[in-house]
Formats: sequence, structure tokens, C-alpha cells
Amino acid sequence: MPTEATPQFDPETIAVVSFDLDGTLLDSRTAWREGFRAPFAWLTTRYPALAGLGEAGEVHDRVYQRYLDEAHLAAGGGEWSVDYMRQGWRDLVARHAPSAATTDGNANADAAFARYEASWPPLLRLFEDATRVLDAVHARYPMVLLTNGNTAYQRMKIEMHDLAPWFAHVVVSEEVGLMKPDPAIFAHAIAPLGVAPASVIHIGDTPAHDVAGARAAGWRSAWVNRDGRVLEGAHVPDVEIATLSGILEVLGLR
Ligand SMILES: [Mg+2]
Repeated sequence: MPTEATPQFDPETIAVVSFDLDGTLLDSRTAWREGFRAPFAWLTTRYPALAGLGEAGEVHDRVYQRYLDEAHLAAGGGEWSVDYMRQGWRDLVARHAPSAATTDGNANADAAFARYEASWPPLLRLFEDATRVLDAVHARYPMVLLTNGNTAYQRMKIEMHDLAPWFAHVVVSEEVGLMKPDPAIFAHAIAPLGVAPASVIHIGDTPAHDVAGARAAGWRSAWVNRDGRVLEGAHVPDVEIATLSGILEVLGLR
């Protein structure tokens, strides 16, 4: 089993380091969950039955997140859309406050969604070690940022934390019309740098996107596994790290 700080390759063979954004550099999940609380409390004042679903953070993780996934899947599982978040709020009302008239239910759900759209972005924070890791890696390697998501959200996140200056190339899936794990978006990310695929390592938190895609593209991969998750399927990374800063030892930077 790969373990933290046990490189499965010689760091001297690495020429470029690639980072995923959400869940890797940026603690988006906390922003989504914490931002959910106030709109959910507001919606519960309209539909008291929603309170029976449980504590807001739990409702976000267990119920709302599932509705987002279902909406995404129903749409074919392609590029992320803000519509899935709107649908998630509508599903909360439609499925758990069934006595609500559909029109009013959707109007109130949409109002909660609008509040949510305002509440989660200001809560976005980089992981505590992200700046230190970016500085240390940047001192030695050219870096690329390779993120799945819609342009408006991803560019907002990048701008908010002034991330672009660190990277030789920033690649947002919607902008290029390709998504991880498609190896074509990995190839696109390093095209301007003229390096061999095997000399690139991609660091990400989602094995099915980050590890599988990197492997299909002929890159190395490091899986950031902060929660001690069990590896999904056959997406085995070259190295597993428990925190982002684990990559520094992998790359021989400390
Ligand atoms: Mg991610």
C-alpha cells in the first residue's frame, strides 16, 4: 500500500507538478456545508417538516448532497451546473414537505437557493498548509492547476485566493470542453510546457477523476486522503498523502 511520504518514484524525474483545486487546495466542502446552515434554517421556518431531517450539517451531507448527485446523474453526469444546486433545494421541499403547493414550494426553494448562492462563497478557505506547499513547490517546479467545474465558480475561487500567479497554466474543464478523468484534458494542461507525460505528477483528492485520469494520461499521481478513506475501485495512486504538505517529502522538498 502506498503510504505518506513514501515516494514510488524518483523525485528527480518530475518536471511539472499539477494540482486539483476543490478538496485539494481549497476546502470547498466546509464552505458548502457551513453555507447551507442559514438558508436551510430559513427554509425550515416555511416548512417545519424539514426540521425532522436533522441537524443542518448532517442534512447537507446526507440529504442535499445526494439530491445534487441525483440531479447530476439524471442530466447525464457531464459538466457541473448550478441548476443541480437549485434542484437540490427544490427536492428538499418537494420530498420532505409534500403538503407545500408546488408553485410556492419551488418559489421558496429558489429563494433559499439564492441565499445559499450568497452564503457559501465567502466561506471558501484554502487548506491551512496550501500556501506553504504552493510556495515550496513553485520554488522548484513549474505548476499547473487542473480543475473540473463551471467557469464562473472556478474562476471566482481562483480570483478570490489569487491563485493564478502560481501557475504556468490554469485549466478549467468547462472552458476547454473536457473533464477529468479524460486524458485529453491532462494532455491539454501540459501542452504549453512541452514536457513528457511521465514527468508530471498530479495531486488530487478524487481517485475516479484525479488518479484515474492521471494514470490514463501517463502521468504520476498523488492522492490526498485527509479523511482516511478506503481507496475506490482500481484507481491506485503512485503515492498517498494524508495532508497536502505530505507532497513536500514525496518531492524531496523537506
Ligand atoms: Mg477535488
